[in-house]
Amino acid sequence: MNTAFSIYNTLTRRKEEFVPLTPGRVGMYVCGPTVYGDPHLGHARPAVTFDLLFRYLRSLGYKVRYVRNITDVGHLEHDADEGEDKIAKKARLEQLEPMEVAHYYTERYHRAMDALNVETPSIEPHASGHIIEQIEFVQRILDAGFAYESNGSIYFDVEAYNAKYHYGCLSGRNLDDIVTNTRDLDGQGDKRRSFDFALWKKASPEHIMRWPSPWSDGFPGWHMECSAMSTKYLGERFDIHGGGMDLMFPHHECEIAQSTAALGHDSANYWVHNNMITINGKKMGKSLGNFITLEELFTGKHELLAQAYTPMTIRFFVLQAHYRSTLDFSNEALQAAEKGLDRLMKGVETLSKLTPSADSTVDVRDLASRCAEAMADDLNSPMVISALFDWVRIINQIAEGQQRISADDLAALRSTVSRYVFDVLGLRDEKAAGAAAGKDYVSPLVEMLLDIRMQAKAAKDWATSDRIRDSLTAIGIRVKDRKDGCDWELE
Ligand code: ZN
Repeated sequence: MNTAFSIYNTLTRRKEEFVPLTPGRVGMYVCGPTVYGDPHLGHARPAVTFDLLFRYLRSLGYKVRYVRNITDVGHLEHDADEGEDKIAKKARLEQLEPMEVAHYYTERYHRAMDALNVETPSIEPHASGHIIEQIEFVQRILDAGFAYESNGSIYFDVEAYNAKYHYGCLSGRNLDDIVTNTRDLDGQGDKRRSFDFALWKKASPEHIMRWPSPWSDGFPGWHMECSAMSTKYLGERFDIHGGGMDLMFPHHECEIAQSTAALGHDSANYWVHNNMITINGKKMGKSLGNFITLEELFTGKHELLAQAYTPMTIRFFVLQAHYRSTLDFSNEALQAAEKGLDRLMKGVETLSKLTPSADSTVDVRDLASRCAEAMADDLNSPMVISALFDWVRIINQIAEGQQRISADDLAALRSTVSRYVFDVLGLRDEKAAGAAAGKDYVSPLVEMLLDIRMQAKAAKDWATSDRIRDSLTAIGIRVKDRKDGCDWELE
């Protein structure tokens, strides 16, 4: 099997041929959610993007160890080194244990990911479960001379680091730009310089989430968990590090600095970032009133939503854009995705019912090679979808007798379509899944017909009212009129 493909490396700013450190194996680390709120539209994009990469790597025959963390400690408000821990704040407001908050939202995140058909990573480590590893990592940076202690907290010494390495290599910044762009906050506290960042923070007396360390009772800085946990599970060098573009600075920049300071080199060979989702052209944010959770999308309960959208519509919507392009949410765009997905799934169904002819008038290798080339070119999922749409047209032509397909070609076509639609793109036929799970489609339809019958009766349209009752009786559904409406039962 051909395992060659290229991927855009944010670090080198170009597409590179992917060469794994160990033949046949891939280690991949992706920054997961901070679990203090409901999973939202912004979570869907990195989850689907790296699920696509995970599925694709496996479809090429790689054994993949995919690590995606859960941040349940150390992520302070404003992403800076000051302010309250996001989870502790939620816990205080709702009078819960911080771990209750983290557990609750981790479960909600998992449920939403299941709905989106995002596969479980190989390992999902929690930051709070790796405090010892983080303390050890901080010690290595101290020993290497790139950190200092100040009043029980440990800070990364950006200037010392930058004298030897380049701080800002990932986001294309230089320390000079960072100096001019960093506000000297009043809360700078014990740091020597505003751009230094915390590796370990001494806990204030009211801070609940705290652990003992050689320096103070405290907690790790947010960036530390990813350096410590990626090293623990993937080693000092691994293949791919991923996340959303919003994490590039400061989070990933700090991760690179931490790993390089402790190990002498960056850990990841390829840095991969997905672009963001905007809503009607604007960045999503609670203050802008356009913050939409995944549950709201699935139920349609949000003032910006014209209707509910199924999880597969959301997944298809994300896959229809290249992961490095911007993706703008709007009802029109999601309705178009819903129609597109429906067309694709109908094509898959038609394909399953085709009967072969003695020979073929179509070249099924076209679809296989177009999909393979698109995926191998930096995960070009929109090109895969467009090739599949071309073939939905051809499948319909075969069904209508305008084209012919041989038995061998039909088997090959079914295998290619199934591979890309279900295995690589990770789509699921929601209607078939609903039917298989015994979803009741009958009751809502009967209720709907009886509603129409009530309206007809109110309008004294006896003909329509009788016709609905008689039609239902004919298929074994007995309608019983009551004073304030009607009931129905199966005969
Ligand atoms: Zn991270």
